[in-house]
Formats: sequence, structure tokens, C-alpha cells
Amino acid sequence: MSAYTAPDFMKSVIDNRYFSYSSFMDVLNMVLDNEPSSSTQMIELGKSVLEIPIYGLTLGSGKHKILMWSQMHGNESTTTRSLLMFVDWFLKSELQSKFKLYIIPVLNPDGLSHWTRENANNIDLNRDAQNLSQPESQLLRSVFDTFKPDYCFNLHDQRTIYGIPSGSHAVQCSFLSPAANQNRDVTPARIKAMSIINHMVGSINENAISQIGRYGDGFNANCVGDTFQALGTPTILFEAGQSDEDYYRNKTMELITLSLQSAIKFIEENNKINDEEVITSYNSISAIETNYCDVLIKNVPSGRKNVDLSIMYKEVLKDNLLHFVPILSGVNDIKVVNAHRVIDLKSDKDQIDFEISVNQKFISNNLDICIFY
Ligand SMILES: [Zn+2]
Repeated sequence: MSAYTAPDFMKSVIDNRYFSYSSFMDVLNMVLDNEPSSSTQMIELGKSVLEIPIYGLTLGSGKHKILMWSQMHGNESTTTRSLLMFVDWFLKSELQSKFKLYIIPVLNPDGLSHWTRENANNIDLNRDAQNLSQPESQLLRSVFDTFKPDYCFNLHDQRTIYGIPSGSHAVQCSFLSPAANQNRDVTPARIKAMSIINHMVGSINENAISQIGRYGDGFNANCVGDTFQALGTPTILFEAGQSDEDYYRNKTMELITLSLQSAIKFIEENNKINDEEVITSYNSISAIETNYCDVLIKNVPSGRKNVDLSIMYKEVLKDNLLHFVPILSGVNDIKVVNAHRVIDLKSDKDQIDFEISVNQKFISNNLDICIFY
């Protein structure tokens, strides 16, 4: 599949991990204005805790109904950017007559503004599927109940800690057909979701920097995806991750756009699936493990021996810019087997100039590890 090229007017939003909600909505409205369609509708669904409007966008007039929501975790914007590209592509495609899409591009606008995972009441919306204690959770559930989707796409970013089990490669993005019960039984809804995931992985692999993974499937009824899957609607968790130095996740954003395109083409083709083959193929996607860090500095002299230091970047929003602050996260951490960047001081001993401050902030000019944005 050929990669989609985004028009220039999107760049103010898609070139950044952090963008303002209003600039995102402006660009989304430009996309819609460029391809007017009688079936396109933007609805104000309700308001966030801080009284910010949350929008639902319906597109297309076909029979396959898909509900997609992104940024329920406010600091996970990669898939939201992918949605801009996907919507633009969809409106130019023939698929409008085959699908009815219901898209909530930013479910947690308060979290987006403050770059927090949680909403303004400090609640993780993806642990609120049973309690439905928050306005954002109630709103998503009411769209699910009234729209009655055939499929759900639950769009997220994952942290930079994931690699394949051997640790030889990072996981650039991962997918999951969430469990529908504690036993993690393979229900009909799960199989349908698995078949779409298999197809997506097959179509994006050649464009990936590293590996595509399968997210862990422990059941938690408080998670929205698990709940919708349990209600019988095939649901897919998308996790946009990071590889190498792609900290703005631009390459991953393209990969997620391709995944969305290939998913709906697959649904439209309505291929017969063989359950056993689907399960085998799904299980052959590499599981993900928490065995990566951002920067691993090996062989740092410490007394008579050498130690390995793991550094994680902490994302800090300051003056409307996202800063990546290096923080010491571990010394000889046995869980860490690889990193997006590895520096071995054995081969370059004279480059030791670093400083670790009281709050574990790690600064080194010679090693070129400093705060960046
Ligand atoms: Zn998330």
C-alpha cells in the first residue's frame, strides 16, 4: 500500500506531538470543507470537566458502522494526527457509500491542553468503563449505545518501554483484540478483531522502522475496549509507539494512517475467515515486553566496577512546547535489555561529562543527551 501524503495545511498540527485543541479543530474543519458531503456532520456531544466541547464527527452513508475515538488519554496525540489524514483520505475515496463512521477525535480535551493522561478530575478514562463517573466516559458510552457500531477502534499511544521478547527490536506500534472475560476466551467478536489486526500488520510491516507487536490481553472490565468487546462488538486497540529517534512519532503516525486505511478496506472486502487460521496468525504477532528504555549508557565507571544507566525521557509541557527531559530511571536494571539509543562508554571513555541532579535529571553535553523539544 502506498503511503498517504498529507497536504501542507495540516502541517501545523501533524508535525507536532503537542498542538492546541482549537488548532486541531481548525485543521479538521478545513479537511471537511475541502471535501463537502451531505453525509458529513460535526456534532457537539457534550462538554469535558473544564467545559470544553467534545465533538463527534459522522462520515459516510454506508452499512458498515465503525466507532473510533482517540486521545481519551490527553497526552497521546499520534493517532489523533493520523485521524486527520485518514479522514481526508476517506472523504476522497469511494468508501463513503460503504461505511458510516462515527469519530470522536479528542475525547479528553482537558488532558490534551495540560498534556496529562487523566482528565481534569485526575481520572483515567480508560479505567472508568464500569463506573462511568466522568462526563467524557458517559458521553463515549452513550455514543456506543445509540450508534450501535459493528466495530470499535480505540486509539492510543504507548510508552517507549516496549520491545519484542528478545529485546533485539523496539515495538513501533502494537494492536490488541482485547479480552472479553477473565478467561480470555476467544469469542466471535475477538476473532473478528483479530482478523482485522492480522490484515493491518501484514499491510504495514514493510513500512515499519522496527517491529509491530501484540499488546498484552489481561482482562480489565474497567477498560473501555474490554467492555465493548464483552458486549459483543469487535474492538481493536491501536497503540502508536516509537522507534529509534522518532520522538515526534511522525513515522508511526503514517503507519497508523496506513493501518486505518487497510482495516476498513479489509472490512469492506468482507473476506471469509477461517477461525483457526486467524488465531494462529494473530498469536504469531510478536508479544510486547517492557524491556526498553530511551537511552542506555553502558559501562559507566562506578568505583571498581562499571554500571549501566537507563535514562527515560519525561514529557513536560512548558510554554506550549513539549520538552523531553532525560531522567535517570535505573542502574543495572535487569528488565532493560535494549534502548532506542545505546551508548557504550567502553569504546569512548573520555566522553564522560554528565551530571545527575537531585531530581534525577540527567544532563550531558558531550554525550548529546540534554533536554530537547
Ligand atoms: Zn492510552
